[in-house]
Amino acid sequence: MDLKQYVAIVPDWPKPGIKFKDITPLMANGEAYKYATDQIVTYAREREAEVIVGPEARGFIIGCPVAYSLGVGFAPVRKEGKLPRETVKVDYGLEYGKDTLTIHRDAIKPGQRVLITDDLLATGGTIEATIKLVEELGGVVAGIAFLIELTYLDGRSKLDNYDVLTLLEY
Ligand code: IMP
Repeated sequence: MDLKQYVAIVPDWPKPGIKFKDITPLMANGEAYKYATDQIVTYAREREAEVIVGPEARGFIIGCPVAYSLGVGFAPVRKEGKLPRETVKVDYGLEYGKDTLTIHRDAIKPGQRVLITDDLLATGGTIEATIKLVEELGGVVAGIAFLIELTYLDGRSKLDNYDVLTLLEY
């Protein structure tokens, strides 16, 4: 199946010059969403993932159906102030300024094999921060799966030591 036909390219959003990749048409098509999910499920199963971790909000959209299909848990990574219990946190750089991501301290057991999911790999900053949280809790990053990779931003260079799956490249 050609999944690219279900990704809408939105020019000049959220800022002039950006060509935003909108995955909502893919999610809206049951066949396409299932097809994409099934590929990540196969990848996760091969890597013996025991828990799925994804950053808000689109990491949930990719990761939760994978967790359901495998019968494993899902742990959300969220912006600071959103998770109600004890968390660990990491600061990461944005184009302007910085932001903070958090995960519950008890979300991952030491040695557990983790699959990280997000919709899109751009500069890699978000996923690098997510990896730090997983590893701080003693998790083993068994794989990282994205629907989309923007190859021209070279986020991959931050993920040299990791096993990465991307379904679509731009
Ligand atoms: P990075 O941290 O620069 O790799 O940016 C990736 C994060 O920004 C992901 O969580 C994406 O959801 C979001 N993102 C960046 N560009 C796009 C886009 O074109 N479409 C959808 N999400 C995007």
